[in-house]
Amino acid sequence: MTQDQNAAAPAANESTLCAPCAGIQRHWRRAPGHAELVQANNRQEARGAHTVTVTRYRCDHCGAIWDYENNRADQRTGWSLVRC
Ligand SMILES: [Zn+2]
Repeated sequence: MTQDQNAAAPAANESTLCAPCAGIQRHWRRAPGHAELVQANNRQEARGAHTVTVTRYRCDHCGAIWDYENNRADQRTGWSLVRC
């Protein structure tokens, strides 16, 4: 059994995501969000020796909560789904 992080394998509850949310490319730095994401708060998080800024967004369309991590040291950050 192989595990492919890039495979499109949404969890069952992600069926509630709207189409623009479902289309967000996750864990890829500088991937775009979509027009109905509303920015909420920022926070700093430690990543080893440095800190990064994580911005919380909420989708006005389906209510999904997203975090966007801006980490120049790691290409595989970016969007992650908090809940939907
Ligand atoms: Zn949405």
